[in-house]
Amino acid sequence: MRLILLGPPGAGKGTQAEILKEKLGIPHISTGDMLRQVLKEDSPLSKKVKRFVERGELVPDEIILEIMKQRLSSADTEKGFILDGFPRTIKQAQGLEQLLKKMNKQIDLVLYFATSVEKIIERLSGRLVCSRCGMNYHLKNMPPKEEGVCDKCGGELSQREDDQEETVRKRIDVYLKQTAELIEFYKSKGILRTLDANRDAQEVYKELIRLFEKEGFNLKSNDFHKISERAESHA
Ligand code: ADP
Ligand code: ZN
Repeated sequence: MRLILLGPPGAGKGTQAEILKEKLGIPHISTGDMLRQVLKEDSPLSKKVKRFVERGELVPDEIILEIMKQRLSSADTEKGFILDGFPRTIKQAQGLEQLLKKMNKQIDLVLYFATSVEKIIERLSGRLVCSRCGMNYHLKNMPPKEEGVCDKCGGELSQREDDQEETVRKRIDVYLKQTAELIEFYKSKGILRTLDANRDAQEVYKELIRLFEKEGFNLKSNDFHKISERAESHA
């Protein structure tokens, strides 16, 4: 199954992607996580992307598309993938289409995480991220079992630098100006589904599962075929 999670920063895309990746057995591909990894290196690429990420602006499309081209050619994406934070512009969406076309693949569903601005700010201002595995927590809504420590891997939790209020406002602005138009883009292709992402993570997850079932994806099996495709191949 090939999925895109679309929505503003703080919509909870990363949280759902982490759960889904276990459930579906396909990788969670977050361009934000990949860029933060790049920033830890001392490389020409790191120098190029630094100022954009720090300011909450978008990294240029060509750079992102090159990174994604490499990532999507890796063997672990064979059965599918969950894209989180990409595409973020129409140009990236078109670039992704071309990439997939060459591989004879296409996106199955775009899940749009509809979220109010108040929720976004509340979530980002309390967000904690594991420095080792990238798992997200929230000071109030989703605290770790032990303060400052990741439940999953024991890594250290910290606040992301770009989660400071001023940068958060900038990121919301960038989202509205450059990314929100992807909603219409995918709606017109008939693959967009909208989730109410203002609710708790567990509620959103339940809605996701219902949605998959409604769309005819069999969730019991690890290797994800659409039930209809399976029925055909068994006929
Ligand atoms: P958010 O919580 O804002 O969704 P991400 O972790 O997805 O944060 O991204 C953090 C930053 O990385 C963005 O503000 C932007 O600078 C950069 N970035 C991530 N994905 C992309 C992308 N697809 N295109 C351009 N820039 C990106
Ligand atoms: Zn962790």
